Amino acid sequence: MINGNEFDVVIIGGSYAGLSAAMALGRSLRQVLVIDSGRPCNAQTPHSHNFITHDGDTPAEIAQAARAQVMRYETVQFLSALVTNASKINDGFTVQTDTGEAFRTKKLVFATGLKDQFPDIPGFAECWGISVVHCPYCHGYEIKQTVTGILGNGDHGYEFAKLIHNLTKQLTIFTNGPAAFTADQQAKLQQHHISIISTPVSLIHHVNGQIERLELTDGSIHTLQALYARPALTQHCPLPEALGCELTEQGLLKTDTFQRTSVQGVYACGDNTSPWRSVSGSVASGTFTGAALNRDLVDESF
Ligand SMILES: Cc1cc2nc3c(=O)[nH]c(=O)nc-3n(C[C@H](O)[C@H](O)[C@H](O)COP(=O)(O)OP(=O)(O)OC[C@H]3O[C@@H](n4cnc5c(N)ncnc54)[C@H](O)[C@@H]3O)c2cc1C
Repeated sequence: MINGNEFDVVIIGGSYAGLSAAMALGRSLRQVLVIDSGRPCNAQTPHSHNFITHDGDTPAEIAQAARAQVMRYETVQFLSALVTNASKINDGFTVQTDTGEAFRTKKLVFATGLKDQFPDIPGFAECWGISVVHCPYCHGYEIKQTVTGILGNGDHGYEFAKLIHNLTKQLTIFTNGPAAFTADQQAKLQQHHISIISTPVSLIHHVNGQIERLELTDGSIHTLQALYARPALTQHCPLPEALGCELTEQGLLKTDTFQRTSVQGVYACGDNTSPWRSVSGSVASGTFTGAALNRDLVDESF
């Protein structure tokens, strides 16, 4: 049960970025409501790495600890719900939830994250975050020196291969269709004994998300212990665009240096604004956004 229906700030998205913004704002005596639908992008990964003080914890443990600390502030309230609509009104915004509640707020923060668009390969979704991973900094150490594949092609696949070759020498690139490397890139890959296989992938064999084999459309089988892949990304939440917030070419929410979007009074933080996808980056982005927004409120009222 939420106390009141008017807030200084409503934060949509209550994962690492949203909770960090809430802490900075709550500590600045702003009346804050965080609304979260409970679907963070890393939910399936068994352990989160590369965030000091929480290295190796589950994503949920980190979120629970964050929420417990943020909720110590009487200025912050938390609602588990999906925000289904956000509209501009004269002196701020209104938001509505799928639980039938409506709130008014002076400012709006989107900390709504990104969504991975999985390729149409059976087994991919089940292995995502477990043995099919996107980030060598998050997971590379745990799968170092294993028989590893990269699902990638062209410049992105090449850059991925350079990065991952540092972690394992048993590396194969599966381009899932005609390879699109330059002659120089092919020569370098060959020089480092990284083989390229272009036959499309038909199936990932796995046990409880742990990859065992890739099956290709020609029936060939490749035993693997890990696979790197970078699925396409889209905004998790369509509401910023519906409000008129501009996107960058990469599909991220466009912000200025103070995390203001192109719509006045609307801010954004975390993955939805950043090409550097990490828990630490999202925490930093949320904390900074809270401070920047508080500064704007101070400027408007002082
Ligand atoms: C598989 C995987 C593994 C990862 N592993 C690591 C790791 O080991 N280490 C690391 O540092 N980083 C890791 N990352 C990156 C890290 O998880 C993200 O950078 C981080 O979760 C982003 O935080 P965020 O708060 O911006 O968004 P998210 O954590 O994605 O949270 C967004 C929140 O907004 C909510 N939301 C969206 N729309 C609405 C709406 N309309 N109404 C209400 N709520 C809404 C969602 O339900 C969700 O809870 C991983 C990412 C993935 C995909």
